Parts: sequence; structure tokens; C-alpha cells
Amino acid sequence: MPLSDIIARIDAATSAAGRSPGSVQLIAVSKMQPNARVDAVLQEGHRAFGENRVQEAAGKWPDFRKTFEGIELHLIGPLQSNKVRQAFELFQTIHSVDRPKLAKAIARIADEVGHCPDLFLQVNTGEEDQKAGVAPKEADAFIAECRALELPVQGLMCIPPADEEPSLHFALLAKIAKRNELGGLSMGMSGDFESAIAQGATHIRVGSAIFGDRNDS
Ligand SMILES: *Cc1c(COP(=O)(O)O)cnc(C)c1O
Repeated sequence: MPLSDIIARIDAATSAAGRSPGSVQLIAVSKMQPNARVDAVLQEGHRAFGENRVQEAAGKWPDFRKTFEGIELHLIGPLQSNKVRQAFELFQTIHSVDRPKLAKAIARIADEVGHCPDLFLQVNTGEEDQKAGVAPKEADAFIAECRALELPVQGLMCIPPADEEPSLHFALLAKIAKRNELGGLSMGMSGDFESAIAQGATHIRVGSAIFGDRNDS
């Protein structure tokens, strides 16, 4: 679907929810997409992109950054502690801070290099074994722990279970964020971003609806 159509749908959902224009940021998820498709979206003027692997991002974005100014990269996939340093060099925002050990590694590198990407803490709202993130009942303690480490926590992130109504998970994430006075909500993908916007998403992560199918499944 053309980028302009996605943007029109975001604007419509934002206004239907009674929210102010521009309060939802679109992150175009470019993982496993051919460079030509990513290039086309850059040509259209879009600058915020999401990748789920540090290695893949390191392979393609330095070249795009030579050609296009103002690119903003978001890490949306699992981060190993030993890749934190490399992630700092590539990403402005990390959406997948999912465990205390990683939070501590981020705090240590931030101290060393004197800056830190914006952070979202991942909550496993569906309590699925195969998904990263802290359980909802552990979220308050994890947020407090990250704040004690003086990390720049902007908000929370979730990926709802594939076979459940996503709006229930978005509502749960919004509730946890609210009681912890966090403004950022990274939620909503190609199939459910309008519902996420209705529940207060500030960052939506949309891949296949913009770029077409990936060959990852
Ligand atoms: C791949 C991915 C997306 C984008 O998914 P689409 O269904 O292609 O929009 C969003 N968030 C995360 C964490 C992802 O890994």
C-alpha cells in the first residue's frame, strides 16, 4: 500500500480517537525488505525506520545514511547485552528493553559513552513463553529499576499474541504506562495499528502494509 495511504489511515484513526494531529509516529519496519523498496520510501521523504536485528541494520543503514539526511532508526527486536555498544551507534531509540540484565548493560555503556538512545520497556502482555518482555505483574518493578539506573525510559512496548484480540493487550499496556506516568506507547503493527491508535499508541511499527510481504515466514 502506498505510504501516503498509510499516512491517511493514521491521520483518520488519530482524529477518530479525538487525538491531536501528529501525535502518532510511524516507524516503517524495513527488516528483511529489499533495499529498492526501502529506497523508494526514503525517496518519498519518510525518515523513521525500524529494524529487528542489529547485524542486519549495520549492513544496510550506513550506506543509506550517506545518501539521505535525518534518518532515525528504531531497534524493535531482541538485543543481546554484547551488542549494546553497536546498537548505540546505529539506533536513536530501542523499543525492546526486556530484562534487568540488558537494562544494566545499557546503563553501563551509556555512562561510558555519555549518551543513551530513548528507551521503551517491553511487556509480554500475553505472557507467552516464546516472547520477550517482562510479565505485566513485574512491569512496575522493572520500570522502577530502570529509573533507578537513570535510563531515559520513554514508554512501554508490546507485541500482542497472534490469536487474541489486540485491543485488550493495547489497553493493558496503556494502563500500566498510565499508572507509572509514562507517556510513550509503542504498539500496533500492519494488521492492528488503527486499534492501537484508538488505545493511545504514540509509536506504531508498520512493515508489510508499507513494503509488502517479507520472506521470513
Ligand atoms: C516485524 C515487526 C513489526 C512489523 O510487522 P508488520 O506486521 O509487517 O507490520 C512490528 N513490530 C515488531 C516487533 C516486529 O518484529
